[in-house]
Amino acid sequence: PREDKTDLYALLDAAANWYQQQLPKSPDAQAYCRKRGLDADTIARFRLGWAPAGFDGVIKALGTNEKRLQLLNEAGMVASNERGNKYDRFRERLMFPILDRRGRVIAFGGRVLQSEQGPKYLNSPETPLFHKGRELFALWQVKQANTKLERIVVVEGYMDVIALHQAGLPIAVATLGTATTPEHTEVLFRAAPDVVFCFDGDRAGRAAAWKALDAALPRLRDGRQAYFLFLPDGEDPDSLVRKEGRDGFEKRIREATPLSDYFFGELSHDVNLSSLDGRARLAERARPLIARLPDGAFRDLMAQELEKRS
Ligand code: ATP
Ligand code: MN
Ligand code: MN
Ligand code: MN
Repeated sequence: PREDKTDLYALLDAAANWYQQQLPKSPDAQAYCRKRGLDADTIARFRLGWAPAGFDGVIKALGTNEKRLQLLNEAGMVASNERGNKYDRFRERLMFPILDRRGRVIAFGGRVLQSEQGPKYLNSPETPLFHKGRELFALWQVKQANTKLERIVVVEGYMDVIALHQAGLPIAVATLGTATTPEHTEVLFRAAPDVVFCFDGDRAGRAAAWKALDAALPRLRDGRQAYFLFLPDGEDPDSLVRKEGRDGFEKRIREATPLSDYFFGELSHDVNLSSLDGRARLAERARPLIARLPDGAFRDLMAQELEKRS
């Protein structure tokens, strides 16, 4: 493992600057930003950029010698073909720099403008600076915008985060194309005592929510509260906040389901609680999960609640 990562950070910052400089030169990318309702302030605050077509834009601009090319490779900015020739990983994509909690660029996400052009989003691979299971998109912007944060909201995508910030809710972060991990959960609770996990109302969203609950359980020390917010099917935070405005979305956040309600609701939904076997099934499912909570009042109350229900 490398000791001094200064040169990697510097290179990724230079890459973000270079992508930012390309954005005004692309009428397509600019039209896309307009279509998505991104204003100039948002584009600047999130340092959005454009990776142009061609295979060596970043390489020509930044990989000017063998050492720098090697650094670009280490930073995940280039890929290699079978013959070992290096080319730009990100091409013809709207670029979203991923910053660490100190505001340093550590990776990128890139979106195609039209969905026919391959996978919609491409992220940097894991590198010495970027560990997907730990990083949250826009955590730095959230910390910049809030001196004291009471609540943080986790959404699915880049555009969801950005739309919420632009609408006046700079409390949203996103995981980066991965399920919520226990490490994410710890980072979230260190940022704010209340964490709201927000998911699409579809099947994938419900599966992701249960994974988030699973990741949160061991981190739910007293004083920390998790909530779940399910959106109507077919909507995401980006589409919804544009329809309902800041106040409408904030109301949904305030009315999110407490973890305990979601927990018992989900474990009982296919159980007949008026039968003994049904209650036994609930108890059997819930006990090992409750056992994963840290010692404390919350665990005791969850155990009591299970007694009441079963
Ligand atoms: P948009 O509104 O731009 O279409 P979205 O955020 O609504 O984007 P979703 O399809 O809902 O897109 O995906 C949610 C998130 O999941 C994305 O923001 C991205 O982080 C991640 N994601 C989606 N597709 C991919 C992919 N092919 N590879 C990696 N990550 C992806
Ligand atoms: Mn979805
Ligand atoms: Mn979307
Ligand atoms: Mn979406």
